Amino acid sequence: EVAAQAASLFKDSGSPTIFDKIIAKVIPSKIVYEDDKVLAFRDLNPQAPTHILIIPKHRDGLTQLSKAEERHKEILGELLYASTVVAKKEKLDDGYRIVINDGPQGCQSVYHLHIHLVGGRQMKWPPG
Ligand code: ADP
Repeated sequence: EVAAQAASLFKDSGSPTIFDKIIAKVIPSKIVYEDDKVLAFRDLNPQAPTHILIIPKHRDGLTQLSKAEERHKEILGELLYASTVVAKKEKLDDGYRIVINDGPQGCQSVYHLHIHLVGGRQMKWPPG
């Protein structure tokens, strides 16, 4: 298990991001959900009354969604499912929005895959 983790870290050629420090709890965050694979914490610059980021604890090359490979199928499912658990915890019973920004045109700024969970107000469509 440890060797497998080390191997997957070695494969991850992306630069470290602020999320590494959040995972390591070197910088504080408001954690709302955590298990062995997934961390969810409140966005520092919320775009809605509820704005939570759901991230994999081991990036394993998933700097962004478009880098997904076959081996990531399980963690991708874990992240989406964890988002529903967090939404229930936050009582977003009238609905919410899940967003993944990918790359420059998707307005991604942190290159560690994350799901934005936003809710607590009426959303609009189309997004900007
Ligand atoms: P964007 O900045 O365009 O939303 P991303 O999809 O990459 O791009 O989202 C990164 C998110 O990370 C932003 O919503 C930002 O507010 C959030 N963020 C950055 N630093 C922190 C931090 N230290 N704690 C919590 N959230 C953070």
